[in-house]
Amino acid sequence: MRRGFWLAGSMLAACACAQVAHAANVPTQLPQEARPLHYSIEIIPNAQALTFQGRATIDVNVLRPTRSITLNAADLDITSAGLEGGADAQVRLDAKKQTVTLAFPAALKAGPARLRFTYSGKINEQANGLFALDYKDVDGKPARALFTQFEAPDARRFAPTWDEPNYKATFDLSAVIPTRQLAVSNMPVAARTDRGDGTSLVRFTRTPLMSTYLLFFALGDLERISMQSAGVDIGVVASHGNVEKARYALEAAAKIVPYYNDYFGVPYPLPKLDNVAGPGQSQFFGAMENWGAIFTFESILLIDPRITTPRQKQGIFVTAAHEIAHQWFGNLVTMKWWDDLWLNEGFASWMENKATTHFNPEWQAGLDAVAGRETMMGLDALETTHPVVQRIKTVDEVNQAFDQITYQKGQAVIAMLEGFTGETVWRNGLRRYMKRHAYANTTTEDLWAAVEAAGGKNVRRIANDFTKQPGIPLVRVEDVRCEVGRTVARLTQGEFSADRKSKTDASALRWTVPVVAQTLDSAPVRTTVQGRATVQADGCGPLLVNAGQSGYFRTLYAPAQLAALTAAFAKLPAKDQYGLVTDAVALATADYQPMSAALDLLVAAPAEASPRLLYGLLPIWGDLHGRFNADAAAQAAIAKRVSVQFGPALERLGFVAKANEPMLDSLLRTRLIGTLGAMGDGRVLAEADRLAGLLATDPNALNGPLRQTWLRIMAVNADSARWAQLRTMAQAADSALVKSTLYQLLGAAKDPKLAQAALDLALTDEPGKTTSAALIAQVSVAHPDLAVDFVLANLDKVSRFVDASARNEFIARLAAESRNPAMAAKLAAFADKTMSAEARGAVDQTINALKVRQASEPRILQQTKAWLGGESLSR
Ligand SMILES: [Zn+2]
Repeated sequence: MRRGFWLAGSMLAACACAQVAHAANVPTQLPQEARPLHYSIEIIPNAQALTFQGRATIDVNVLRPTRSITLNAADLDITSAGLEGGADAQVRLDAKKQTVTLAFPAALKAGPARLRFTYSGKINEQANGLFALDYKDVDGKPARALFTQFEAPDARRFAPTWDEPNYKATFDLSAVIPTRQLAVSNMPVAARTDRGDGTSLVRFTRTPLMSTYLLFFALGDLERISMQSAGVDIGVVASHGNVEKARYALEAAAKIVPYYNDYFGVPYPLPKLDNVAGPGQSQFFGAMENWGAIFTFESILLIDPRITTPRQKQGIFVTAAHEIAHQWFGNLVTMKWWDDLWLNEGFASWMENKATTHFNPEWQAGLDAVAGRETMMGLDALETTHPVVQRIKTVDEVNQAFDQITYQKGQAVIAMLEGFTGETVWRNGLRRYMKRHAYANTTTEDLWAAVEAAGGKNVRRIANDFTKQPGIPLVRVEDVRCEVGRTVARLTQGEFSADRKSKTDASALRWTVPVVAQTLDSAPVRTTVQGRATVQADGCGPLLVNAGQSGYFRTLYAPAQLAALTAAFAKLPAKDQYGLVTDAVALATADYQPMSAALDLLVAAPAEASPRLLYGLLPIWGDLHGRFNADAAAQAAIAKRVSVQFGPALERLGFVAKANEPMLDSLLRTRLIGTLGAMGDGRVLAEADRLAGLLATDPNALNGPLRQTWLRIMAVNADSARWAQLRTMAQAADSALVKSTLYQLLGAAKDPKLAQAALDLALTDEPGKTTSAALIAQVSVAHPDLAVDFVLANLDKVSRFVDASARNEFIARLAAESRNPAMAAKLAAFADKTMSAEARGAVDQTINALKVRQASEPRILQQTKAWLGGESLSR
């Protein structure tokens, strides 16, 4: 998932047996009475009534003589169930546990049996189970398409299932559908029979052994285009009239599949791989890796040249690379239980970066990895963090496990281990792991065993330290000296923390930390730090620790060392420049060093630096600018500083995108305009005014990659006339993608009256069922308190707009930008009242982050102001 897949009978038997042998060690919420081997499921959806009829038979292996069998079911109305050909069993549903128990008239013997169910279920309006997405078709008529979303625990809303990842089985899915519509599932269509009444029965070919959460079904006025790659029928599916917009994603998939075939050493095992576009959005996820039938929301799958930004185009490639990586890591080999979700998500995140770097080296995706690491370290530095491998007991805990620690720390730790073992050993380990565990389930330990068997020495120790313990190591670089042409330095390991800085190095957690260090012109040297170490690098001069940025730790240099690196900044590789700055900013924010050290580095980036670096530095300035909301003079000083540093880049790029320019130039231009515009830059605002004038007479005047950027500036600064103009454009939009983008912009206004108007609009039918939550989230960026109070006052209504799996996290996200001292208590009171202890992780993280910011803000403002004063005098 992104919040970012023929089978012979003999293999089926072999794998199922292996799993039975392991079953005792695997956490489960179901009694060990029987294991499913094969499901046959037939559904008849009634899209208009939002219900469906279902019939299922399940071939099971009864493990011991039993009178009853319990499996998962949620929100299903089971009309009859029993043994195939036998009398009805007594059916008991447990809504809280989401299970159904069949009590049989007589005890079942151990061995094979076939269960039968007749039932009906609900079609939901947010992305859980079988769900509907409404949109206007190309002719402007209301249309509805159906999709499924089962990860983590929602296949049980579609059919009675053993809905846990370790219960792999095969699936035959069939459906009765309107004849003029297209249905898509994991596998190709085996047969389609016209029933002569406007409906057809569609039967899909049998899936391989797989977990329930990967089953998929979609139905609607859909179109598909396809191409062959590496013997696989690669396709994209979108609503009628939109499928050509998915061609970029189609071509990306056709490149990525052979690349992964080679990398994993196991060819993609299904005959086809589709990527299915859904209009609208979810607050929980952007795309889902269903085996053979990836689901992706339109904004990260379709390119509409009238509105798609360069960043969104990159996102389409990266998302495809992520979901396709899951076809191996997650689908072919699956974690036994959600404790090891990071095996899925960390790997897909790491692999997305690897594939993106391979196919688009000019994008400098390595810097994206640094950016991702930063956001996640913000969470991992708080006491509310958790280890990458975590205990998961309840459904609530499963949902909140899909967080940045799981994805991005997982990714960072894997990158570090690859750096430690070397690319070849690492890849050989993964190939071994894929071969050995294909169609089966694993734990993290199985992965380390495979990498060690491939020659990776001491991997387990480092891996355990970083996946079983929470938190971030701090490596202090001290006592640096030049000795006969070599640089020698002392490295000491402590712990980096934002809220427990009183923690001394002696009381810190201990990690075995692989460290790469180098002086500017020499080869990197590698060492591992356990407590303390001495590093020796060839050459004398500034010593860079964590060279290449593959290490998961923060580096705190002695002041003279940092000053030497600052002076040599322009000579460092872009990735190290970015890592050095982000480390320095985080260390200063958490009071390990003065803000001036970070700010000196921030201004050390020359105008001709990598556009990707400048792109990464602008939000750091934007954040500082935002912190001074109550101090116009300081904001003006920052704006002036930014204008001096980044003006030349904007001059070079201009306001208009050039044909075939490098992607990074396009990216940087959007961010320069956005950031400088937000800081009130005269040139940018004048251009925005000019464009607004054009827009008044021609709604298409801004079409192109910068349309969202300019509209956002207009939306942020809107008066009620401008806001009404944007709303009229949103109402008139002719595609779901454009419509949803424009409605979200209405939430960006600085004017509190317009922000309130946007919130009120979110409660109406106008923006569309899945856009309302995004609109509220947009309001929370500038008006967090307004947005939170609004949601608390309209909780029932707003809850309908948010996927069940994301509700607790949603309120936490709205509050994140608040600077109101009362917000933490307000959130806590709400969580106490409405959330179980297992489900409040995201809220507790936000509460903690708010408190830390409250406590550190005065120091940061004071130190930054002092630097701005001194700095402006010296220039
Ligand atoms: Zn994923």
